[in-house]
Amino acid sequence: MIYMDNAATTKTGQAAMAAMTACMAENWGNPSSLYAHGQRAAEDLWRARERMAACIGASPKEIYFTSGGSEGDNQAILSAAWLGEKKGKKHIISSTFEHHAVLHTLEKLKQEGFEVDLLPVGEKGNITPKQVSEAIREDTALVTLMYANNEIGSILPIAKIGAVCREKGVPFHTDAVQAAGHLPIDVAAQNIDMLSLSAHKFHGPKGVGALYARRGISLVSLIEGGAQERGKRAGTENLPAIVGMAAALEEACAHLEENARKVSALRDRLIDGLSQIPHSALNGGRENRLPGNVNFCFEGIEGESLLLLLDDKGICASSGSACTSGSLDPSHVLLAIGRPHEVAHGSLRLSLSEENTDADVDAVLEAVPQVVEYLRGMSPLWKDKVSGKNPFVL
Ligand SMILES: *Cc1c(COP(=O)(O)O)cnc(C)c1O
Repeated sequence: MIYMDNAATTKTGQAAMAAMTACMAENWGNPSSLYAHGQRAAEDLWRARERMAACIGASPKEIYFTSGGSEGDNQAILSAAWLGEKKGKKHIISSTFEHHAVLHTLEKLKQEGFEVDLLPVGEKGNITPKQVSEAIREDTALVTLMYANNEIGSILPIAKIGAVCREKGVPFHTDAVQAAGHLPIDVAAQNIDMLSLSAHKFHGPKGVGALYARRGISLVSLIEGGAQERGKRAGTENLPAIVGMAAALEEACAHLEENARKVSALRDRLIDGLSQIPHSALNGGRENRLPGNVNFCFEGIEGESLLLLLDDKGICASSGSACTSGSLDPSHVLLAIGRPHEVAHGSLRLSLSEENTDADVDAVLEAVPQVVEYLRGMSPLWKDKVSGKNPFVL
């Protein structure tokens, strides 16, 4: 199997698995229990908090463990919104190409009477600090913008956007789920007030993540119960997953530059190779791009058919279109960067990890052009373009 869907999830790493099995076998006490066996669990929980904090330049008390990226996004956004509302601030700034964990939370807030401005995204998947600065108002309660996009891999100028928000006194949250473990993060230097990350995007286990909230930034609890996570997230801590996540993030951050160099070389070979396919286009720019992200549109085909045929060849990839939800809507991200509906349907995302090899890239560069040609051969849409009945878009 050639696995190139690391933006969806990553293989659990050895470091995480070793930490998790040790925790489950030996340190399975409840961190809230007062006897020594519980306190050993509490110590490991605290150490995991320290280790996570060290990886992003935070202090341990600024780390809140969550069930993943979606929960972190929800809690950060709802907290800032509801606390802002108390001060008469009901305006939120975000963008059109955020993850649904952000967009759907904002939808909910709109129904509560919040005004949400979604900044338009440039054709390369960029947003400028100036756009943010111009959108901020007296009543802005929050700016939430992703560090790197999960579909097209574009990286936003987070430190500069953070500086604009800090200057205007507006809380700034970033969904860093695609960035954590892959790009450097320093919450202090980058002027970040809140940041969400998720373990399974950097070879940690699924169902666990962390929300960083700077000292002085208040959180609202979404789950009521015990006093865990300093009263901001009730429920007995998932210690095995938490120590697995800490081990995985440490491992990823220790090899960050080396992995980025290796993976971006593979990425660039894929981009160069796939660009040779006629009537194709890279989504997102070549600069400011996640080391492991490749995303193309191929005119005249359906992304789903492409994926199924690649699966037959043992290649795991993804398409921008949200067919899993049973809808035929193309990806909101590809529409946000200006791809027409018809073209957005024919997209392919390949997301790499440091475990991919040159041989994997060779196999993909052989398979994709064959499959695209085969599908185009069967496509009435494509025939109309070749005959001149319909114009080519790409
Ligand atoms: C995967 C992802 C999420 C959701 O994280 P989960 O841990 O799966 O809930 C949120 N935002 C981005 C950008 C993602 O890639």
